[in-house]
Amino acid sequence: MKLTFAGTGSAFCMAAENFQSNMVLETTPSGNEQPHRLLIDCGSDARHSLRNLGYMPNDFDAVYISHLHSDHIGGLEWMALANYFIFDGHRAKLLAVKELLDPLWEHSLRGGLETSDHGNSQLSSYFDVLPLVAKTGFDWQGLHFDIIPVPHIVTNESTMFSYALFGRGEKKSFFLTTDAIFNPDAHMSLYRKADMIFQDCELGPRHSGVHAHYDELVTLPAEVKAKMWLYHYQAYDKPDAKADGFCGFIEPGQSFDLG
Ligand SMILES: [Zn+2]
Ligand SMILES: [Zn+2]
Repeated sequence: MKLTFAGTGSAFCMAAENFQSNMVLETTPSGNEQPHRLLIDCGSDARHSLRNLGYMPNDFDAVYISHLHSDHIGGLEWMALANYFIFDGHRAKLLAVKELLDPLWEHSLRGGLETSDHGNSQLSSYFDVLPLVAKTGFDWQGLHFDIIPVPHIVTNESTMFSYALFGRGEKKSFFLTTDAIFNPDAHMSLYRKADMIFQDCELGPRHSGVHAHYDELVTLPAEVKAKMWLYHYQAYDKPDAKADGFCGFIEPGQSFDLG
């Protein structure tokens, strides 16, 4: 199992050499079968970041959606229409917790996808939709993923959750935070049991409060930082993460062998 970061940028990162933080999880079955690919989030610049890795939209068997910010779902209209019109109606599975599916369609995708040449459409016209339940997680290609609801934006009126993943490869387990506030008490048991941690990390002078900031992450215990890779960062000069005890900042296109 291999996890490749198509980009490692934040939502607004405009670095010419980076893209939004979407990932490709690839498993290759025994024998000479084609690899199976799960795209983890499909942001508004996915068509560029995936092309950079050599992928077309029909190279994916499934897409997992963590939450509804456009750096995580803004590429779904492109994927739906490109697969429908250009790639012979290729259908990817769309995996997301069931709470996200109605708002994903009603508030994000319906305007561009409802009316098409085959009449009125819905999400299931383009994708094989698999509503997930956070408590039970899901299986993909024989691997189990726990779904971890993590608060991402907390206000007096409401909380927006992102749905992080805890996955287990044959050899290594990993915790992928997606977009989350700094919440060490809630995350510590996952930090401790994961072999690898992929952590969203804000950089720069502004502490937005909706992502863990580097200044906060650096306070984590040394044994947690020693297995933590940082991504979803802005285009500021990066601190020396290795000197601070982290594995480092993930570079765009970097892959991890998860066994
Ligand atoms: Zn994001
Ligand atoms: Zn977000």
